[in-house]
Amino acid sequence: MPQTDMIDPFGRTISYLRVSVTDRCDFRCVYCMSEDMAFLPKKDLLSLEELDRLCTVFIEKGVRRLRLTGGEPLVRKNIMHLVHELSRHLKSGALEELTLTTNGSQLARYADELADAGVKRINVSLDTLDADKFHAITRWGHLDKVMAGIDAAQAAGLKVKLNAVALKGFNDIELPDMLRWAHGRGMDLTVIETMPMGEIDEDRTDQYLPLSLLRADLEKQFTLKDIPYKTGGPARYVEVAETGGRLGFITPMTHNFCESCNRVRLTCTGTLYMCLGQEDAADLRAPLRASEGNALVAAAIDEAIGRKPKGHDFVIDRRTNRPSVSRHMSVTGG
Ligand code: SAM
Ligand code: SF4
Repeated sequence: MPQTDMIDPFGRTISYLRVSVTDRCDFRCVYCMSEDMAFLPKKDLLSLEELDRLCTVFIEKGVRRLRLTGGEPLVRKNIMHLVHELSRHLKSGALEELTLTTNGSQLARYADELADAGVKRINVSLDTLDADKFHAITRWGHLDKVMAGIDAAQAAGLKVKLNAVALKGFNDIELPDMLRWAHGRGMDLTVIETMPMGEIDEDRTDQYLPLSLLRADLEKQFTLKDIPYKTGGPARYVEVAETGGRLGFITPMTHNFCESCNRVRLTCTGTLYMCLGQEDAADLRAPLRASEGNALVAAAIDEAIGRKPKGHDFVIDRRTNRPSVSRHMSVTGG
């Protein structure tokens, strides 16, 4: 399949697509969703075949890495059908990597099948190792299920990276233990600053912990050495001398990494967001459905990439007590 490159107005090559296959989830993490979330109407969803078709157009246009996310990607009905379909692009060499971000609740069931389909590494979100705190932060989740999922993923040969949202007064004191635990099991850990996306039931100013503070705290007990390691995302990594493992920092609030942005985000209704932190979006569902050929949707993608903005401008403070963007993280998948 002939591949081209997508270049945005700032000269950035767009080679990474994140696809939110559903905005629904079996958890209700307090920083991500409100408890009574209104989800997108099912009739607006793209079918798995349509998602496959859209992803394939993106791959033909130069996407080399594709991440399925959500909502919780593994709660979408028949999701493994899409994974198997997309894996043909791994076999052909057009796609370098197919991966996913998951809360881990369904991993015990799907880990082997994911590995069989050519998935090599996955991100699992885990904010605490304390079962009661886990239930409190996810509202509906159970830690033992996620642990069984991580076990199954590692047993299937998947490389697991953990993602933890740093929450003031919640998991900041626990992060040293999480770090030791993750590294002891051969998993990298990445910490993420909370981003002001969508209305939630709580005040984000209470949760927000700048990672510069967290890092200074960790440096009281660990030796952190900056390393150039990159996974293609915005995380900046350090090596932890005491554990021999890697710790990543994703700092959308305190450090703007937009200059090296290589990605766009597709929702389960076929809306393309060119930036996580901006409202501007392009509808790809109408051009996709307007004809059987892909020329219209390819043109719509080109037009959208042509207006990818330079960056985001997230703010969390007491004066700005509204989300920077109105949609929740579960729509675009982080
Ligand atoms: N459900 C899957 C999961 O939790 O891994 C995939 C989707 S979830 C929206 C992707 C990531 O975004 C998770 O690691 C989650 O912790 C993070 N996230 C959700 N809301 C966030 C927010 N407001 N700020 C920062 N990260 C957030
Ligand atoms: Fe669901 Fe992931 Fe959002 Fe938690 S962070 S509510 S698991 S989508």
